[in-house]
Amino acid sequence: MDNAVATVAINAEACSSSCDLCVASCPVDILRKPEHGSVYVAYPDDCQACFLCEEECPREAIRVTTPARVPMIDVVYAQSSSEKGR
Ligand code: SF4
Ligand code: SF4
Repeated sequence: MDNAVATVAINAEACSSSCDLCVASCPVDILRKPEHGSVYVAYPDDCQACFLCEEECPREAIRVTTPARVPMIDVVYAQSSSEKGR
């Protein structure tokens, strides 16, 4: 994961087992759908953070997170925790 520009997470409860739209949308082919199983991220380091999989997902079951997309509340909390630790 050290080389990844983004983290790709799939919510297994929300994901539909009959769907593979995110797999088809990924331009670098890092997602896989086994014949009898759920979609998973096979090559997480290769994600290009294009967000196409998120846009295609009808259930909001896949989430791509980059450092720039970390919610501001998390940044504030991290700064606050770090200052307390000084
Ligand atoms: S963000 Fe783009 S490159 Fe990354 S998994 Fe989704 S479709 Fe593939
Ligand atoms: S597009 Fe969404 S619902 Fe379909 S397989 Fe991917 S994560 Fe699951």
